Amino acid sequence: MKGFVDKEACIGCGMCTAICPKVFIMDQDGLAKAKDIDIPEEDMEAAKDAELQCPVEAIKVE
Ligand code: SF4
Repeated sequence: MKGFVDKEACIGCGMCTAICPKVFIMDQDGLAKAKDIDIPEEDMEAAKDAELQCPVEAIKVE
């Protein structure tokens, strides 16, 4: 499974990077991006939580 951020939707609130910093980081443009990694099993719960909690539903974990 991987994380994806829709930059058209992201408002740069930083929530996902706080919830799951192993997968989501802030990009130079001030918006989040997902690292190009297969999400480790131990980080799946946090990644899914970030997906759920993003206020603009910009995250997909699939
Ligand atoms: S939680 Fe959503 S809106 Fe906030 S930085 Fe992450 S992707 Fe962007």
